[in-house]
Amino acid sequence: MAIYLSNADYIDPQTLEMRTTGIRVHEGSDAGIECIDANTANDPEIDCTGRIVTKSFVVGHHHIYSALARGMPSPKSSPTNFVEILEKIWWRLDKALDGEMIRASALAAGIDAAKAGTTFIIDHHASPNAASDSLHIIAEALDSIGLSHLLCYELSDRDGADRLASGLAESDRYLSNHQGLVGLHASFTVSDALLTRAMDMARSHNTGVHIHVAEAESDETDSLGKYAKRVVHRLSEFGALDLPQTILAHCIHLDESERALIKDAQAWVAQQSESNQNNAVGCLDASGFPDRVFLGTDGMHGDCLAAVRATYLASQGVDSLSPNDAYRRLRRVHGYLEQNKFTGDSANNLVIMNYQSPTPITPSNWAAHMMYALNRSHIETVISDGRVIVRDGVCTLVDEQAIFSNAKHQAQRLWDRL
Ligand SMILES: [Zn+2]
Repeated sequence: MAIYLSNADYIDPQTLEMRTTGIRVHEGSDAGIECIDANTANDPEIDCTGRIVTKSFVVGHHHIYSALARGMPSPKSSPTNFVEILEKIWWRLDKALDGEMIRASALAAGIDAAKAGTTFIIDHHASPNAASDSLHIIAEALDSIGLSHLLCYELSDRDGADRLASGLAESDRYLSNHQGLVGLHASFTVSDALLTRAMDMARSHNTGVHIHVAEAESDETDSLGKYAKRVVHRLSEFGALDLPQTILAHCIHLDESERALIKDAQAWVAQQSESNQNNAVGCLDASGFPDRVFLGTDGMHGDCLAAVRATYLASQGVDSLSPNDAYRRLRRVHGYLEQNKFTGDSANNLVIMNYQSPTPITPSNWAAHMMYALNRSHIETVISDGRVIVRDGVCTLVDEQAIFSNAKHQAQRLWDRL
């Protein structure tokens, strides 16, 4: 099966070369595209006259379990630091989740992402009282929307041995027949024993770990107090940095020795500037390892155009990205997925945008259009693995209204438990 995009203004996501062309889009998780001027095979056709077509987007670090948190009641007493934000908000929420809420979260977050032009989500999931089957539920929900994914379950010692055991079991079972990662919460809730088990599991499934690193200074203080070494040194000694699938989320409070380790590591860093501002934990300075960083949203939304603009703005005065630097940071995740042979991010993942610019668009200024003008309202149609999953702004494979109606019901159930 294939579809034909006629008269498209195609922008190559890597070279930024621009050409007006027809594009034959083949269906399948490892299929590609061909630029051909006529629809000789009589494929179903989408007229792209006046539309920009380019590669769709990947969220490099998400928490789709937080989709039902939007607008929830505030905690009884306000958090005063990052660890209290976890204790009073997120660890209460994740413990209250059940299977139906997890499914509703994944469907709602998936629709939000797809309509913003995202076709692949790298997620970090926690539901300590409903770990069993949780990754399978999320995978099924994202599959139904037409999204590709790389999931993990957030292992931690913070909730005791029984909950950890069910998280380990779900991770191992899921990874035995899906692509994914071994999730870990963060150094300060992960013992040496758990880190050893997680690394063994990652190696046995030929994958890496996905962990929050130095999101707040307290993660470093904890590691220095318990282990007399900083977080990245600790992870490095267990071999986590040697795995090319490993994702280190945040990495804000590193010292020079940790920066040097990451610069020479196989592991990658995910940056989430909006979440970092929301939690008042600072901003990543990736000046020592700019080629290792890609972008996530940390559960705030699934909109990569919003994330890249926020990153570009937040970086000013820190590692001071140019529009082109920020664009490269947005696109680097495609290299991570390709290098590690994760499927679902081939060239047949595309967005069709209705963007009327008052100024010329060129390869050298496309990144500036993205930082200063492009947003999700320009995304008309989204193609994932060669299938149209959003047409004229509406998901094609699922019933959005039914999903949002049920999500509101599940959100109220969740809030009543908090
Ligand atoms: Zn996170």
